[in-house]
Amino acid sequence: MSVWAILVAAGRGERLGLDQPKAFAKLGEEPLLAEPLRRLDDSDWIDAIVIVAPPGWEEPAILLAEELGCGKVSACVAGGERRVDSVRAGLAEVPADAVAVLVHDAARPLLRAEVIERVLAPLSEGWDGVVPGLPVSDTLKRVGPDGAVAETVPREGLWAVQTPQAFPADVLRRAVAGDGDATDCAGLVEAAGGRVKVVEGDPQLLKVTTADDLAKIGSWL
Ligand code: C5P
Repeated sequence: MSVWAILVAAGRGERLGLDQPKAFAKLGEEPLLAEPLRRLDDSDWIDAIVIVAPPGWEEPAILLAEELGCGKVSACVAGGERRVDSVRAGLAEVPADAVAVLVHDAARPLLRAEVIERVLAPLSEGWDGVVPGLPVSDTLKRVGPDGAVAETVPREGLWAVQTPQAFPADVLRRAVAGDGDATDCAGLVEAAGGRVKVVEGDPQLLKVTTADDLAKIGSWL
């Protein structure tokens, strides 16, 4: 059984306000991409890795993988306009005999080995996808552009979903084949009628969006 990881790193990261793309923002002394890449490479669950880099940044990404000694990196391709386009570009590099695919946001650097295991292990039970999540603890309100509350959304049963997300390879291929869009891969699988399981996520899997997130994650390293 071979498990491939697709590390999507092609986002522009405009809210960080830097000259370079988010994946190359500094986390400690290294580009952000280094931490999740090394952690995927270190995992016994992962056989091979495809990096999806910002267009024009494929070479720096490959050089970084070489520098880090990440021997599982099999390909590095340019991403697309939307996240789904980037996932599709990565999936095109995954061979037909791959059994499972794990898609992870490079913007979530603190990927623990336990989380990789938690999302991959239940695939053998027949799920179409397994994703990490955390139950929402704040009160949720839908707010209009003028700041006025439109409604309070009951939070029972609501989870905030993270990556890495694991899928049988054929399920993910079918889900991204159409022209649908979603903020995560599981959304595409659900739209195609797939059954997706949520397992316990990790608060440290925070996604880097702002400079504050980078500083917070840096302090957890
Ligand atoms: O934009 P957002 O923070 O939701 O992106 C989540 C992940 O998807 C990031 O790791 C980002 O690099 C990646 N992404 C991508 N291609 C895009 C948009 C986002 O690879 N076009």
